[in-house]
Amino acid sequence: MQGFKLTTELFFGSQAINHLEGLTYRNVLIVTDGFLESSGMVAKMAQHLPAGARYQTYSDVKPDPSQELVDAGVAVVERVQPDMVIAFGGGSCIDATKAILYFAHEHGMDKPYFLAIPTTAGTGSEVTNFAVITRGENKVVLIDDFLAPDGALLEADFTKTVPAKITADTGLDVLTHAIEAYVSNAATPFTDALAVKAASIVFEDLPVVYRDGLAMRSRARMIEASCSAGIAFTNAGLGINHSLAHALGGRFHVAHGRLNAILLPYVMRFHMSEPKYREPYDRLAHDLGMADADELLARVIELRECLGVENALSDLPQFEPAAFEAELSGIAEAAQHDRCTPSNPRAVSKQDLVNIAR
Ligand code: NAD
Repeated sequence: MQGFKLTTELFFGSQAINHLEGLTYRNVLIVTDGFLESSGMVAKMAQHLPAGARYQTYSDVKPDPSQELVDAGVAVVERVQPDMVIAFGGGSCIDATKAILYFAHEHGMDKPYFLAIPTTAGTGSEVTNFAVITRGENKVVLIDDFLAPDGALLEADFTKTVPAKITADTGLDVLTHAIEAYVSNAATPFTDALAVKAASIVFEDLPVVYRDGLAMRSRARMIEASCSAGIAFTNAGLGINHSLAHALGGRFHVAHGRLNAILLPYVMRFHMSEPKYREPYDRLAHDLGMADADELLARVIELRECLGVENALSDLPQFEPAAFEAELSGIAEAAQHDRCTPSNPRAVSKQDLVNIAR
């Protein structure tokens, strides 16, 4: 038996932000990062809170949130006892909020209403039951329906300040979610439809917003694509592209989307080398109006190049060959045990993962 679940209510379209004004919550905690607070974006969003509502912020979130900043956030949420928590930011802020509420609940606190407002078009975390937390050198994936926000508010206006490089990284994260969800061994016709829609938007609109961050129609389409891909993968799971990105990201601190983008063609080639595992890539290519899996692979590489993404891990400025080789066995082992690996279409050995990373 298969199923399809979306526990998060979506608010989107023109002036979606006005949804906030109609809410009845009065004691609000906003979890965000230092940039979003100091740039005035938090205050701009908070203007739309209902009349009479007061808010406090926890703005210590950093990219790839650590367990320590989550623990500090648990203390804040327990002190504030909010009736609504808003995660305002990229995947790091949304994941940190998920984990904060999860661990506060473990301590006995009731879950307040949880609204996610993404400010990047990338992770889809606003609708997923995943959270990625960094513990030491490992990125740990939590998967639990408790983590899924109650509401997700998609407002493209909040993404227009994302710099070109982060636009590229996060947009290619969307593509990786769509492709991994489509070829996953838990894919369904429903997740396929969302994955195809998301991938087709990325091919069309990501180069546009990369060149012109104020191209608002494409920004709006990208935030929809990010959310669609999120709904696809929270139901279908991901695969070894993400498992390797988590293992590498915990050790080398490269943006998650960039790691996914660098790995993607190598993971695709690994799967496409066997006819049985090539088949879903051929199907996805047809659904996207392309000839076959080879054309899809060529289009992925072309898109990556046009967005200035490195061809291989060794092209990254922070790459150190000796450190990489020393870590490789640990990376492959962490990837093998990552919670994204069970839904990968093809069984992988530790050596396969070493070869792909290398
Ligand atoms: P991020 O949240 O780490 O943000 C990256 C940078 O972009 C930060 O410096 C942030 O301040 C900045 N930023 C965010 N919004 C901005 C805006 N509107 N204008 C200008 N700058 C802005 O990046 P991300 O890619 O959104 O999230 C990555 C994290 O999400 C990783 O930890 C990854 O593992 C995780 N992730 C989670 C899921 C999930 O389902 N939970 C899925 C994929 C990835």
